[in-house]
Amino acid sequence: PVGVLAVVGRPNVGKSTLVNRILGRRAAVVEDTPGVTRDRVSYDAEWTGTDFKLIDTGGWEADVEGIESAIASQAQIAVGLSDAVVLVVDGQVGITSTDERIVKMLRESGKPVILAVNKIDDTNSEYLAADFWKLGLGEPYGISAMHGRGVGDLLDVVLDTL
Ligand code: GDP
Ligand code: MG
Repeated sequence: PVGVLAVVGRPNVGKSTLVNRILGRRAAVVEDTPGVTRDRVSYDAEWTGTDFKLIDTGGWEADVEGIESAIASQAQIAVGLSDAVVLVVDGQVGITSTDERIVKMLRESGKPVILAVNKIDDTNSEYLAADFWKLGLGEPYGISAMHGRGVGDLLDVVLDTL
């Protein structure tokens, strides 16, 4: 059986961009603004010879009112279906209260969580990732889903948990 990886995080952090980067094609829909309704989508992915399933929880940014509870409950469904989780946060924004709520839910799930600090577009911004140690999820991996920076190293760590 192939492992299932859920990509979760609040809207606009770059989850769908990361999914596309991993897939090597533009399959997940990237939105400049949060709050667009999409269905949950699962993709067949492969990394260094290992097949796995990738769930983009982008669709669960669905309704603009109550957006936080929508994210929390829908992310919970994805997490329930998964063997491991990549929590994506925005390195340029820093830790938000929604991030903290998602972390709490992930902790309760007992699933392995790998923390991806996205939008670390160059080496000079790498220090921004260090702040996310505060989330208590272990090492924050600075990545740029847009440019591909750090994504290979992240996947190596992720695949070890599947
Ligand atoms: P999602 O809502 O979490 O799925 O986020 P999206 O993948 O739709 O991306 C939201 C916005 O962030 C888009 O405008 C992306 O182009 C932008 N974005 C995604 N990844 C990066 C990145 O690595 N660096 C920067 N600077 N912007 C990014
Ligand atoms: Mg998305």
